[in-house]
Amino acid sequence: MPINEDRGRALENEYFQRKEKELIAKMKAKMGDQSAKNLAIKCPKCDGTLVETDFENIKIDVCDKCSGVWLDAGELTHVVDQDKDGGWFGKLFG
Ligand SMILES: [Zn+2]
Repeated sequence: MPINEDRGRALENEYFQRKEKELIAKMKAKMGDQSAKNLAIKCPKCDGTLVETDFENIKIDVCDKCSGVWLDAGELTHVVDQDKDGGWFGKLFG
């Protein structure tokens, strides 16, 4: 009976979709745990530790060894947006 077969297949798909969602949720929870434990981020340039600092309402990561300043992509966009009238960012890299 083809109708029953389709129904069975649909239930099977539903089962796997649910399993996949559970797996993703578990992975996300695991990743969350790891990021909470690894709050100390290593400097990409030296073996120093990056310290999150507020600079003109922007979160930046400053290395405690080489004083290197690091931003993630989202933070950088934020900085560039604020820098349209020529702010500290332009002076720093201009
Ligand atoms: Zn460093």
